[in-house]
Amino acid sequence: MVVMKVIFHEQFLQSYTHDPAASPGRLDQSYREVGGKYAFLEPSPCEEEDVLLAHTNEHYNRVKGDESVFASAKLAVGATIDAALCAAKGEPSFALCRPPGHHASPDHSWGFCYFNNIAIAVKKYLLNYPEKKILVVDFDLHYGDGTANIFQGNPAVIFYELPSGKGYKAISELKKFLEGQKVDMIACSAGFDRHVNDWGGMLTTSDYGDIGNYLGEYAHKYCENKIFAALEGGYNSRALAESIVAFLDGIEAGRY
Ligand SMILES: [Zn+2]
Repeated sequence: MVVMKVIFHEQFLQSYTHDPAASPGRLDQSYREVGGKYAFLEPSPCEEEDVLLAHTNEHYNRVKGDESVFASAKLAVGATIDAALCAAKGEPSFALCRPPGHHASPDHSWGFCYFNNIAIAVKKYLLNYPEKKILVVDFDLHYGDGTANIFQGNPAVIFYELPSGKGYKAISELKKFLEGQKVDMIACSAGFDRHVNDWGGMLTTSDYGDIGNYLGEYAHKYCENKIFAALEGGYNSRALAESIVAFLDGIEAGRY
């Protein structure tokens, strides 16, 4: 039985500014292929108070002042919060959204990011479950500096960046790392720009399937299927669509 939920809004298909994450058509193929397998749930924009869980007032107001991105940025946060809510009920979920968020620190952002979707969703979950421990896994090509900054010194959150290198090496490190962990939920910054046909040139589509599989298996065994992910990078629209489907299928397969 498929329980994977995909949080998606048609507004994410619209370009909102001039950067590679916002480029027209980037998510069209993903929308078609993911939508062919998994049910979509439509998100609402987050509230200002949600953003302020991870960012300063000044940063919020700076992004608010950029009319081209503000609405999309709030909707991407809302989608990721909804993904975390599904995960909290034991339904693995994925926010197919943009702009990405992992380069957004408390008071600044760069790298096509504005608000830190994953960090805000994790912070909001921890408001309700302060005793829980969360593992944030970031497998984007680029270091999730914003997420690391937001959770620095926070004992409730472990931030893990997938080591760089070819598939087998990176994934066996992930597997080894997971064996030693005791956490209640996995949140994933899912960037697909390490793909062999994308900027990183490191991971194949089936490697993304393996990553999903190991994470899904861990979540099934130890976290009652509490796992969610949000899209970060990934700029070859064909490789992106294939890899997202492989990753989600991998999480599903991890449950058996
Ligand atoms: Zn990236």
